[in-house]
Amino acid sequence: MDEFSLIKRFFDDPHRQMTKHNQSLVQGIGDDCAVLSVPDGHDLVFSLDTLVESVHFPVGANAGDIAWRLLGASVSDLAAMGAQANNFTLALTLPQLTEAWLQDFSENLALAAACYGITLAGGDTTKGPLALSAQVQGFVPKGMAMLRSGASVGDFICVSGTLGDSRAGLTLIDSEIVDEDQRYLLERYYRPTPRLEVGQLVREHASACIDISDGLLADLNHILSRSNVAAKINSQSVPISDALLRYAPEHALQWALTGGEDFELCFTVPAERWSTLQYELQAQDVPVSAIGVIAESSGIEIFQDGHWESIAADGFNHFSTYKKETRD
Ligand code: ADP
Ligand code: MG
Repeated sequence: MDEFSLIKRFFDDPHRQMTKHNQSLVQGIGDDCAVLSVPDGHDLVFSLDTLVESVHFPVGANAGDIAWRLLGASVSDLAAMGAQANNFTLALTLPQLTEAWLQDFSENLALAAACYGITLAGGDTTKGPLALSAQVQGFVPKGMAMLRSGASVGDFICVSGTLGDSRAGLTLIDSEIVDEDQRYLLERYYRPTPRLEVGQLVREHASACIDISDGLLADLNHILSRSNVAAKINSQSVPISDALLRYAPEHALQWALTGGEDFELCFTVPAERWSTLQYELQAQDVPVSAIGVIAESSGIEIFQDGHWESIAADGFNHFSTYKKETRD
């Protein structure tokens, strides 16, 4: 199988959702470039993500899981801008052409693409150590893209879904899965759910937004430094799933604060807008929690065990030290 028949067979099959009709895509796979027509009154937002074997996923990871993870993590960046997903290009570097691998990968990529409403518009295929990149593109009404720089003192800090699940899933990669909780946590690692609908709802109200890829504290800190403000967080308001609480109660809060790759949204919203937004969010099947408030100066303070403590944004170790100190 040469490169062209590979593309035709696995990525340009018209029976698959992946390459189905997309009004904005004037030309998809099959020419030197794809051609995209941006709808009137919209901005184009785009982002590139790469997964490298043994860096971002373990050697021997299931091809279907890799597909979901690649597209989920990439589309999450569109969600963070409040954009609607439109199309993506795919760079595949493969050590060899394994039909079973490509079949599993492309089938699941098509499922994920249909799930997020995104079309495959082109790509590149090369031989080498396994690595995958997806460049995703989406549209947002002109001037409405949510940036990291807009948070103001008094804004509420909110997050979608639950945090720390993906970090727990990471500990389960090489284990035998013994119950539903473990299955759920591992799935949250491999198949993150980009919060596209939440992002599009939130963009009408939010002052800043980011998706949580490096951990709540680290990503919130990007908003803080871009916006020149500080944050106060109530540890009790940080949303944690029942599955995580049962699986690792002693790590749950730490993982929720610092474990990355949950691909939930963290956004700030003016306090007076919060009740309206909460009302609008009721239609979504994902919960959104207010976990704190934007304050003056810089850094993050967290309320736990009855008092406030400063906490480093990068801080797995810092936090464990902090926990130990305050518990003793
Ligand atoms: P060029 O040599 O002009 O860059 P290629 O021969 O690399 O073009 O690709 C031919 C067509 O197939 C292009 O439209 C390209 O976007 C598409 N393509 C190549 N690899 C992939 C892939 N992995 N997934 C989707 N489309 C691909
Ligand atoms: Mg060319």
